Amino acid sequence: MDNLFTIVLNTDDISLIAICERYWDINKKMKYTYHVRDIAIRFDISLLKVTEIASSNSALITKCVKCSQELNVYRMRKDFHPDELLSLEFFLCKVCLEDYKNQQITKLKVEKEVIKKPPLTKEQKYKRMNLALERNFWNELDEPHLETLIIIAESNNKTEILSKVFYDNKDINSDFRYKIWTRINYLEKVDLIWVERDENQKIKEFHVLDDLCKVLRTKYSHLFLS
Ligand SMILES: [Zn+2]
Repeated sequence: MDNLFTIVLNTDDISLIAICERYWDINKKMKYTYHVRDIAIRFDISLLKVTEIASSNSALITKCVKCSQELNVYRMRKDFHPDELLSLEFFLCKVCLEDYKNQQITKLKVEKEVIKKPPLTKEQKYKRMNLALERNFWNELDEPHLETLIIIAESNNKTEILSKVFYDNKDINSDFRYKIWTRINYLEKVDLIWVERDENQKIKEFHVLDDLCKVLRTKYSHLFLS
């Protein structure tokens, strides 16, 4: 644990140094290697004397693991329990800790970006619409949804579709508006249509497969106006 702790000695008495070094020795499990009692027995002094010698002749210094800046100076074991400090954050100075936290935030952000799925491409959308057609999803629609789908299928563009589904009524109440949008969203969800939007979610165009239009025209010709 040399990189985390430094023992500073202020004596050149070899026997005192031996006591101090044992007093502050920390093993890989982040525990003090020697019991004070064992040091006392070995050097034939009292427990109190061990602590007294260590604290007046030495100190334990913790340093930042990144930049080696001094963090804390400890004089007695009771002030420092290394096994409580297993987290890296306890061994970083303020500056390095800030860096570390920022790195973690960046890492999280990157992970989030990766998780966020990219929007489907035009090809993927069409593939899904083809699959929905193959599976006859249109056959399971109730009348209001079918009606909306047919309006979208028989219209030439976005403007025409919107004016028809909302009956050209700008003062239409919000409940009705909501109902229509719920239908449109459902039709898109089951891939019978694709509502192409720009980056601001504004509708660019509605897409329906020509093959689906043909099927609908054959089966529900009475519902088509044109
Ligand atoms: Zn640092």
